[in-house]
Amino acid sequence: MTSNFPDRLGRPLRNLRLSVTDRCNLRCQYCMPEDEYVWLPKDDVLSFEEITRVVDQFVTLGVDKVRLTGGEPLLRSQLPVLIKMLAERPQLRDIAMTTNGVLLPKHAQDLKDAGLHRLTVSLDTIDPETFSMMTRRDDLERVFEGLRVAREVGFENTKIDTVAINGVNDGEFVELIEFARSASAELRFIEYMDVGGATRWRMDRVVTRDRILEILSAKYGSITEVARVDAAPADRFALPDGTTFGIISSVTQPFCATCDRARLTADGMWFTCLYAEKGTDLRQLIRSGMSDEALRNRLIEVWTDRSDRGAEVRAGMTDRAPLAEPANLRDNPHLEMHTRGG
Ligand code: SAM
Ligand code: SF4
Ligand code: SF4
Repeated sequence: MTSNFPDRLGRPLRNLRLSVTDRCNLRCQYCMPEDEYVWLPKDDVLSFEEITRVVDQFVTLGVDKVRLTGGEPLLRSQLPVLIKMLAERPQLRDIAMTTNGVLLPKHAQDLKDAGLHRLTVSLDTIDPETFSMMTRRDDLERVFEGLRVAREVGFENTKIDTVAINGVNDGEFVELIEFARSASAELRFIEYMDVGGATRWRMDRVVTRDRILEILSAKYGSITEVARVDAAPADRFALPDGTTFGIISSVTQPFCATCDRARLTADGMWFTCLYAEKGTDLRQLIRSGMSDEALRNRLIEVWTDRSDRGAEVRAGMTDRAPLAEPANLRDNPHLEMHTRGG
């Protein structure tokens, strides 16, 4: 699809990820492995009015999909109010959320009522011990319950995202596929990424797309690739019985060439790439009284100058190591995946 505002590599802006909080109730070892974190100051966090004001300008550039994320988005108080405000904007044809699912039993009905379209639940294991080890919390039953309640209140096309890590959950891919099927959800494996926050990342802990397919073929037989319909990051596959699943191979086969995504942190920092070192401080612009038109012009200026292809650049590195050390992350929490929004 053509865009009035393509970036320097011809990519439109369609997809905006809104991180609504940097706080989280889990401590996944691939995202928040440290004991202490530096949090965004509360006064810096954008109000719902500020978020929707910015979203409205993004919409004029071509954004028609938003995804609420975090941190854990369900920790943001009154979140259904924001969803309702977004749902009142007909240009947004897709309003989704990525959540760890722990608080879904409590909130699923309100999310549905507010107009949320789709859910992605992150779940890396269905084994209680592995869950505790991976997340440093004992909330697996609540995630199961969350998936059940989400289905009960009418959510469809739910996805389950699983970060695949060698020696941690690579022995339960088949069980995860079966679990997702029983929960009427589609499983998507994510290659373990060396993003900010993943301070324990090592290349030999990444289960590659090829290895995932090898493991699943050994159990199910021949797997076929399903044709792509959009710029979504996952490649989709079908098992012989028609069950589909996805693989997001950001490490071994990055998809920057079609990347139409940008991220806004809870405090209004706008990043045009998951790996970008610098962002554009939209909070400062809107709180200094900038007009909508000037804000829109600034968005256009930044996007049309974009040439990011972070994952491709990293794939070309010979000695690949985590993006940032804990000390860099303490100095600059905006580098964190849980701040930037996955
Ligand atoms: N807390 C919510 C959740 O976990 O669903 C939303 C935010 S979380 C940062 C968004 C997604 O990023 C999750 O699916 C998580 O698994 C993924 N993620 C975090 N760190 C990752 C890493 N190092 N590699 C791959 N995926 C990662
Ligand atoms: Fe885990 Fe998501 Fe929290 Fe990161 S933000 S620690 S991925 S639940
Ligand atoms: Fe997009 Fe950056 Fe991810 Fe590449 S690394 S797909 S450009 S966000």
